[in-house]
Amino acid sequence: MKLGIDIDGVLADVLTTWLEHLNRHFEQNKVKEDIIHYQFEKVFGVSWEEMDRFFRNNQENLLTNLSPVEKAQETMEELIKEHNVFLIAARPEEYRSITEKWLTEHSIPYHELIMTDFSDKSDYCLNRGVEVFVEDSLENALAIHACGIPVLLFDAPYNRDPLPKGIFRQHNWREIARTVQELNQGNDKLFKER
Ligand SMILES: [Mg+2]
Repeated sequence: MKLGIDIDGVLADVLTTWLEHLNRHFEQNKVKEDIIHYQFEKVFGVSWEEMDRFFRNNQENLLTNLSPVEKAQETMEELIKEHNVFLIAARPEEYRSITEKWLTEHSIPYHELIMTDFSDKSDYCLNRGVEVFVEDSLENALAIHACGIPVLLFDAPYNRDPLPKGIFRQHNWREIARTVQELNQGNDKLFKER
């Protein structure tokens, strides 16, 4: 199958690192469960401009010192043996080399890295013939799902809304590996059960 996989919040544990920096910068004490919006300015009670400035000024730090999500590396090693893997990240093109370096450092295999610069991921999915997508942003998940592509939504405090049929909430990489296998076997029971 052709798999589309997001990076931030799926392969890279951005929340831990970003929270440390955000708490220090805005002098707050938020924990992961407080991040109930993907728009961090709402969580921290600051303006969009302030948050944008924070991310622009700290981008390198925020994208370099990231730990991989638990079992992401091992699972990607397994998936790439059987599937085509497209990493489709919202990051701007100028961060390609930082991103490639991080992927190499953490031995995360892939066939192609696509940086969408915050534009709609569904165009890239259709273009590459992606059959299943792994994502953590609910907004992106809904857009990709609207193109008829099943989405595995990596559970996070900011995406806990009710999900339509065809978007599957997943809690870890082992669960993702199992669901990919079921979808690959054409198990339509999956759609009836959830
Ligand atoms: Mg993400």
